[in-house]
Amino acid sequence: MTIRNAAIIVAAGRGQRIGGEIPKQYLSVGGEPVLRRTVRIFLENPDINLVQVVIHPDDLDLYEHAVGDLDLPIPVFGGDTRQQSVLKGLEAIDIHMPEYVYIHDAARPFLSQQILNSLIREVSHCGAVIPALKVTDTIKYMSGDNIDNTLNRDFLFRAQTPQAFRYKAIFMAHRRFEKSDLTDDSAIAEKSGIKVRIIPGSEDNFKITTENDLKKAEMMTGNSYTDVRIGYGIDVHAFEDGDHVILGGIKIPYDKSLKGHSDADVALHAITDAILGAIAMGDIGDHFPPSDDQWKGATSDIFLKHAAKLVDEKDGVIASIDLTIICEAPKIAPHREMIRDRISEMIDLDIDRISVKATTTEKLGFTGKGEGIMAQAVATIRLPE
Ligand code: MG
Repeated sequence: MTIRNAAIIVAAGRGQRIGGEIPKQYLSVGGEPVLRRTVRIFLENPDINLVQVVIHPDDLDLYEHAVGDLDLPIPVFGGDTRQQSVLKGLEAIDIHMPEYVYIHDAARPFLSQQILNSLIREVSHCGAVIPALKVTDTIKYMSGDNIDNTLNRDFLFRAQTPQAFRYKAIFMAHRRFEKSDLTDDSAIAEKSGIKVRIIPGSEDNFKITTENDLKKAEMMTGNSYTDVRIGYGIDVHAFEDGDHVILGGIKIPYDKSLKGHSDADVALHAITDAILGAIAMGDIGDHFPPSDDQWKGATSDIFLKHAAKLVDEKDGVIASIDLTIICEAPKIAPHREMIRDRISEMIDLDIDRISVKATTTEKLGFTGKGEGIMAQAVATIRLPE
């Protein structure tokens, strides 16, 4: 079946200009991965029939996490350069024989529907069109250490994406100049003699490249997570015969165990309830009824991860967790760092946002008499307004 309009989203770059291990197209902006924002723009346009993403082979997990639930064909693996990646994308959509193709950088998540619609309209008239902006700074041409020349900026434009072409023409041009290393598709078109028009681009349609761009992007989403919620959780489990307790996901040798339906990890239960409390989504028992046999003997990281996922679904972030474990024994201090580390890993939260404290009750009450362990936790959650 042939289609009219296909988009190729180029997301195979490594984005090394912004520090860190995650390529910029997978970083979150306003609680949503950059790639997801970009892809949604195309999916939401009724005239775009297909959205093909090109990714780096190492990024499959990141891709799944970012857009796995959206209606997209399986991603194509890119090549070593942007140009090679685009060619892979063009090859992948060839079976659909699209009439027009819109090649877009994943790191431009603020493309407006207005620009996209203008491109869709224009390309059917002229066959090749890109958004571009006039250069406002005066541009100097250097020769060695000195300025050789001042260019006439009336003729200078900054190219953006998406770049729209007749599919067959740009595919042939890409194949023909496969060995060159050009930084946009218009350059390939120009090289093969295709006349490329421009329409006005937008400053908002910038490419996230630097740390500053990322900050600007965060501000543009208007999402500063100013809706701060506090949740509180408390849990108690009694001791029974045994040889270890599980606290914060860590197995601690002791001459008793904690009694419970699951692994009785009183610490994780308190944190789970604190998180659920902050987003007003009931308690651990609502989500994992003790009457349901499938949670028998379950490890409690399942409960905590579920609560964190609910926060994620609200586009929120966990700002901090403060846990207090109350017992006479076993001693918590030697295991504290491991518990913090373990929780950090479970919910993908910086360790400096996780506090683990312990106290006794001076031999008073059930914790003082060594009948069980209590845990209390406070979670701070930030949600978008
Ligand atoms: Mg419990």
